Amino acid sequence: MTATVIGAGFAGCEAAYYLAQHGVKVRLYEQKPKKFSPAHHSPNFCELVCSNSLKAKRINSASGLLKEEMRLLGSLSVPIAYKCSVPAGGALAVDREQFSSAVTAAVKEHKNITVIDGEVTAVPNDDVVIIATGPLTDGDFAKALSTLTGEYLSFYDAAAPIVDIKTVDMDRAFAASRYDKGGDDYINCPMNKDEYENFYNEILGAKRAVLHDFDNVYEACVPIEVLARKGRDTMRFGPLKPVGLTDPKTGRRPWANLQLRRETAKGDLYNLVGFQTNLTFSEQKRVFSLIPALKDAQFERYGVMHRNSFINSPLLTSKDLSLKEHPNIFIAGQLSGVEGYMESAASGLMCAINAYKKLCGQPPLILPSITMLGGLFNYITTPVKNFQPMGAAFGLVDELDRKIRDKGERYSALAQRSIDYINTIKI
Ligand SMILES: Cc1cc2nc3c(=O)[nH]c(=O)nc-3n(C[C@H](O)[C@H](O)[C@H](O)COP(=O)(O)OP(=O)(O)OC[C@H]3O[C@@H](n4cnc5c(N)ncnc54)[C@H](O)[C@@H]3O)c2cc1C
Repeated sequence: MTATVIGAGFAGCEAAYYLAQHGVKVRLYEQKPKKFSPAHHSPNFCELVCSNSLKAKRINSASGLLKEEMRLLGSLSVPIAYKCSVPAGGALAVDREQFSSAVTAAVKEHKNITVIDGEVTAVPNDDVVIIATGPLTDGDFAKALSTLTGEYLSFYDAAAPIVDIKTVDMDRAFAASRYDKGGDDYINCPMNKDEYENFYNEILGAKRAVLHDFDNVYEACVPIEVLARKGRDTMRFGPLKPVGLTDPKTGRRPWANLQLRRETAKGDLYNLVGFQTNLTFSEQKRVFSLIPALKDAQFERYGVMHRNSFINSPLLTSKDLSLKEHPNIFIAGQLSGVEGYMESAASGLMCAINAYKKLCGQPPLILPSITMLGGLFNYITTPVKNFQPMGAAFGLVDELDRKIRDKGERYSALAQRSIDYINTIKI
């Protein structure tokens, strides 16, 4: 049995590894390091192009449950992420270099995987093909793909800047997690009312890199300058919210507060949480340095904004995640209309499970919507008006057959029901 996987990102690595673990000989194509997209920089596989957070760990949260279901089904990336984690309160954040290196090693060293360097420009023939070239798919391959899938849909996504923590003024910053959950994992950069007002006024007029209306920005990734334009206090209810924090210098809650989250195990680099942006690099330096603790901060990477492509999965894809018109071809990852690192990996895993079943002549595994995976893949394969990418959410999961008023208890019961079900699956 042979399979071809195109793209060694979150979805492609997960798919290739799963198939290889089940005895399928896999050809895995990757264009890096010969060609990099504008958001990819590392020669390693499974690169985190922006935040280093894989979202919540708690099993009674949507993304925590997604990761647990993946782990139970044999995920490659979830256990590696835990091994490479860095402190981030309740979130699973990873040292991006360690994480990508570990995934790369697991994939490259697998005896059933042959890695082929270079850009794929046409859809190859094989028993099964998994296309996992990501939201920045371009060039000849994008054209080849659009002959299979028709025109792409798209939206814009943005990445936040990263600073060298040694250059953050710790006389103006303090280490703490919101509501004391997670020890001193975050570095907080507080602002008083005047400092916030000054920051707000300057960000409103700051120059943006591309003059574009960015109507179609994924909600969780709205650039900070776009958020600022929604109202004087909008940022204070979003990325600059001060709730759950007390500045030890004043003994009071700050008027506004930016959190920095650790990027590396070494603890040298931190990202500006929620500060994805499309401002020009010089304006990022000028305006973000108005936050007192960042006055002399050195920016190791500036924020950027990219167009993300995805296919119209509800029209094109069967419930087993293969293309209706080309049942041996699966589209995995963000390109399939899921949103997020782990959702992309989950999509690679589910495509691989069903590709394997197809190779074995078995019926597909179509998970019910009592699981997070089932809810997510049911969503992207069910016709909907104005289809937009979707991440894990309890709203995708079927309700319990009994009412539980407390939200935490309800989520715990939903999670337990899902895990009980996944534990019954035999592949
Ligand atoms: C700028 C930006 C910021 C993002 N920020 C976040 C975030 O903070 N958090 C989050 O959860 N999600 C984020 N996302 C969304 C999404 O989670 C990531 O894009 C994720 O990496 C998608 O995984 P993937 O496997 O689908 O694609 P990728 O991880 O992009 O993998 C695709 C791989 O295919 C390779 N490839 C592409 N074309 C070819 C070809 N023709 N031949 C051979 N190889 C090819 C690429 O080099 C790459 O290695 C962001 C996306 C973008 C674009």
